[in-house]
Amino acid sequence: MFIFKRVTDLQRFVERQKKEGKLVGFVPTMGALHEGHMSLIKRANDESEISVCSIFVNPTQFNDKDDLKKYPRPIEKDIELLIANACDVLFLPEVEDVYPKGPKPLVIDFGKLDKVMEGAFREGHFAGVAQVVKRLLDIVLPDKLFMGQKDFQQFTIIQNMIDQLDIPTELVVCDIMREKSGLAMSSRNVRLSEKGRKAATLLHKTLKAAKKKVNSSTPEKVEKWALKELAAPGFEPEYFTIADGYTLQPIKEFSDTDYVVACIAVWHEGVRLIDNMILKKE
Ligand code: AMP
Repeated sequence: MFIFKRVTDLQRFVERQKKEGKLVGFVPTMGALHEGHMSLIKRANDESEISVCSIFVNPTQFNDKDDLKKYPRPIEKDIELLIANACDVLFLPEVEDVYPKGPKPLVIDFGKLDKVMEGAFREGHFAGVAQVVKRLLDIVLPDKLFMGQKDFQQFTIIQNMIDQLDIPTELVVCDIMREKSGLAMSSRNVRLSEKGRKAATLLHKTLKAAKKKVNSSTPEKVEKWALKELAAPGFEPEYFTIADGYTLQPIKEFSDTDYVVACIAVWHEGVRLIDNMILKKE
C-alpha cells in the first residue's frame, strides 16, 4: 500500500493511474477503522482498479470540540487493517494541507435537507462535511465515491452536492455493517464499556420493531413509541425521525412516499450514537 501525506504526491500518483486508464475509487474516513469501513474498501476494490482511502479527522465538521479531542486516532492499527484488506493507497494529509488558506467556508444551499435530524442537532456539521468532501474530491478526482448508509443524511447531502456542482463522480452507497448483536459498527463504539455496548443494541432493536409497525400504524405513533423505548435508563434520545428517504422531510402517512427511512440519534455513556433503517422502499 502506498501512503501519501502530501496533496501533490497523491495527485501525481492518481494522475499517472488515470493516464493508464484505471478507474479510481475513493473512501473518505476519519480513521479508527473497523469492518464497516473495510466493507467500503472491499466495494471500492470490486468496482474500481485503484482504491484510495483517506484518513482525516476534519475539524470543521465537529461542533463539539470535546468530541474532536476525544476522537480515537489509532493510526498504526488502521494501516494494518487497510493493508490486510488490499487497499492500494492511503492518503493521510495534515489540516494545513487540506486547508492551505484556512478552512474557507463552502456555501451551498441544501434547502431543507440539512435542517433536520443531524443538521438540527449539530450546527454547522454538514457545512463542514460538504467542505471537506468537496476539497477531497478536488484532490483525488475519483471516478467513484464510496460512502455508508450508516450516515444516511450525509450521503443524501453529498449526492445533492454532486448534482448541484456537476461533479463527475458517481456516489456508491454501501450497507450498514453491524456487530452480531445488531449494534451498528462505529469508531465511537470503543468509548463504550462492555455493558454499554450490549445495552446499545437497543437502537437496532427499536428500528427493527418500528419496521414491523409500518402496515398497522402511523409515522407519528411509531415515533412516539420509539422515543419512549429509547428513553431507557442510561439513554438520552435526541431524535427518532421517520422521513421520506429522498427529501428527509417528515411524513404523515407511510403511504406518502415509496421510500421511508427511520433515523436515530441517542446518547449513551457520554457517546453519541446514530443508526437508521429503511422501513420501506418500493
Ligand atoms: P467515518 O470514519 O465515521 O467518517 O466514516 C467513513 C465512512 O464509513 C462513511 O461513509 C460512513 O458512512 C462509513 N461507515 C461508518 N460506519 C459504517 C458501518 N457500520 N457500515 C458501513 N459503513 C460505515
